[in-house]
Amino acid sequence: MAQRVCIIGGGVVGLTTAYALVREGIEVTLLEARDTLGSETSFANGGQLSYRYVAPLADAGVPWQALGWMLRGDSPLKLRPRLDPAQWRWMASFIGACRTSINRRNGAHLLRLALLSQATLQGWREDDRLDGFDWRRNGKLVTFRDAGHFEHARKRVTDNLHQQVLGAAECAELEPALNGVPFVGGIYTPNEEVADCHGFCQQLAARLRASGRCEFLMGRTVTRIHHADGRVKALESGGQLFPVDHLVIAAGHRSAALGLPGVRMPLYPLKGYSLTAPIGARHRAPELSITDYDRKIVYARIGEQWRVAAMVDIVGFDPSPDPRRLALIKRQARETFPLAADYEHASEWAGMRPATPSGVPLIGATRYPNLWLNLGHGALGFTLACGSARLLSELIRQREPSIDLRGLAPRAA
Ligand SMILES: Cc1cc2nc3c(=O)[nH]c(=O)nc-3n(C[C@H](O)[C@H](O)[C@H](O)COP(=O)(O)OP(=O)(O)OC[C@H]3O[C@@H](n4cnc5c(N)ncnc54)[C@H](O)[C@@H]3O)c2cc1C
Repeated sequence: MAQRVCIIGGGVVGLTTAYALVREGIEVTLLEARDTLGSETSFANGGQLSYRYVAPLADAGVPWQALGWMLRGDSPLKLRPRLDPAQWRWMASFIGACRTSINRRNGAHLLRLALLSQATLQGWREDDRLDGFDWRRNGKLVTFRDAGHFEHARKRVTDNLHQQVLGAAECAELEPALNGVPFVGGIYTPNEEVADCHGFCQQLAARLRASGRCEFLMGRTVTRIHHADGRVKALESGGQLFPVDHLVIAAGHRSAALGLPGVRMPLYPLKGYSLTAPIGARHRAPELSITDYDRKIVYARIGEQWRVAAMVDIVGFDPSPDPRRLALIKRQARETFPLAADYEHASEWAGMRPATPSGVPLIGATRYPNLWLNLGHGALGFTLACGSARLLSELIRQREPSIDLRGLAPRAA
């Protein structure tokens, strides 16, 4: 069994993986390119732990809907075609996954993983008293402006035990901040949760440091993985070689740059944006997490902060924020929830979702027996991280996995 595991990447996925392994007595070394942990895509995401609303983006009709969106100035989707074969390959696979049967199958894989994730986080919170990251079980309401979209969505609700279809008046009764917003109805899931992803990363890092079993090597960009005789042997960073016993790649959207022959990582970054505005005594922020389905904007109260996250920009690897996209989010947020927070003092952020075309992450073994993947969590990385980490820890320790791995395991190139 593995004695020491090396992890590339200190985002929420790398840190939860380290935590799950250290909890089981395994020693970990984690290399992170930046000087701080949880400071790339895991920094200011939507904060929604959306366990039961996990349908992948790729679905029947989405390519047509996307074409319609792109003709609008306020589109939640932006595509800038580039001379990059990775972008074209990703888009072709994405379009291939836009079928109802594939969406349902992948949705089932994600749901299995999400429920494992919820149970795992609950275990860590209760057994290890892991806290300090503004976690709450506040419930989530997906709201619809368009009657056709609402009708379509309500027909797809099969889990009547955990999800309720509500009319506009019932939505406003449940969440008074929705009064006067032109929503026609919503789908309410009372057991969904919310938390601060960056705060969670900091808490995990503190526990890992205190354990004495995890070494952090910060400011170390891994540039190459050396292999011989069918096994991974060492990492290269800053001209130095680090021998490895077992290696996990959890480097978010830049994981594919570390590719090895025979290891498929079909990833592309989907850029998104968020605003974080302070909630003062005079503000009236919703207590429920809200997803504005038609505008593709998610809202969450995280402690005393109001987080608004949105947009899918397929524009390459440049992470810099586009001020016009941020201005659009601010305008739409103000229009929907004018009293929620102090928008004048909102901080702005852009992040790159590490997305596979199917929306399903890659978790597990590769053709190199000591190389493991935990990546491609796309729009659901915070939601799925604890379950993915537990699953990978079980696989590395050669234990029976807690859930069926079908659909989740990496495929050979
Ligand atoms: C706008 C927006 C809103 C979102 N909202 C939600 C939400 O509400 N709920 C949810 O569940 N998810 C949400 N997500 C998705 C979630 O944030 C991501 O899926 C998740 O943060 C990915 O975590 P990660 O650890 O894989 O990647 P990252 O957090 O990006 O971590 C990867 C780390 O690897 C490091 N790294 C990369 N390459 C190297 C290298 N070569 N050597 C060393 N280190 C390296 C990076 O510096 C980085 O720190 C949202 C994302 C965005 C952009």
